[in-house]
Amino acid sequence: MSAERPPGPGTMRAMVFEAPGRPLVPVERPIPRAGPGELLLRVRACGVCRTDLHLLDGELAVDVPPRILGHQIVASVMGDGCRVGVPWLGWTCGECAHCTSARENLCERARFTGRDIDGGFAEYAVADERFCLPIPDGYPDLQAAPLLCAGLIGYRALRMCGDAGRLGLYGFGAAAHIICQVAVWQGRRVFAFTRDGDEPAQALARELGAEWAGVSGDSPPEPLDAAIIFAPAGALVPAALRALVTGGTAVCAGIHMSDIPSFPYELLWGERSVRSVANLTRADGREFLELAPRVPVRTHVTSYALARAGEALEDLRAGRLVGAAVVAP
Ligand SMILES: [Zn+2]
Ligand SMILES: [Zn+2]
Repeated sequence: MSAERPPGPGTMRAMVFEAPGRPLVPVERPIPRAGPGELLLRVRACGVCRTDLHLLDGELAVDVPPRILGHQIVASVMGDGCRVGVPWLGWTCGECAHCTSARENLCERARFTGRDIDGGFAEYAVADERFCLPIPDGYPDLQAAPLLCAGLIGYRALRMCGDAGRLGLYGFGAAAHIICQVAVWQGRRVFAFTRDGDEPAQALARELGAEWAGVSGDSPPEPLDAAIIFAPAGALVPAALRALVTGGTAVCAGIHMSDIPSFPYELLWGERSVRSVANLTRADGREFLELAPRVPVRTHVTSYALARAGEALEDLRAGRLVGAAVVAP
């Protein structure tokens, strides 16, 4: 069947992950029902994230396929029409050591939207009301979607950079194009690194306030106080360390990365550090979504019809996108 066909009564169209290495499959399935504490949502837009590619490729496991991917959902609540956002963090236990110490992003039993819970590459979705976030007014649906993962996990990574004045961003895609704007607004100087030949991303970086844009592996014109690595390439870790001042931090912001090659201890010496950022807390979400309109963050999006979600993922993989991809049912 085709996802172009209108669904029958009580059913919806969705793009479903079935197994690693296989393309998303269009299906028609019953509209889900909301349980206690859950909201039934009509999806208005859903951002595409590199994590979706890692799931598609089996670099991150989907434990119980088939699964609807997509974890940057802008939706209307059925019944009251209120607009909400559904991020990657879909449920936490509320009881473990992490949950009770303001680190619910690390909850051992966390369930994630679009991996453990059906996500937003569909016409409808169900979400735990406690994990839905308010979408700031003034953002159209498509423009709001990338704020929900690229924006707020990127923002968590930016916070890990402390008061670093000179910030390197490795990989200038959905997350970096948002965080660049926040960092410049905060008075930081941004240095953007892209794949060799990615002139459009470098041009976007300069347009958004980066004072320098070049190729990953190049030396920036000045040493960096911190770097955020958004691209999933482990080789960028020693490259970023090489660009850091003593005491500087390299933050790995992705959920998966290729192996990090060995490097001389001298690159880490001098109290440089390497750390990762995992997931988000609801507090991160509220804080970032309150901040975004004050900057104001403007997102650059390319939209795809629901049936073309797989194409959006392949465009992301190939680096054919500038900014963020968003699927709109
Ligand atoms: Zn994501
Ligand atoms: Zn927990």
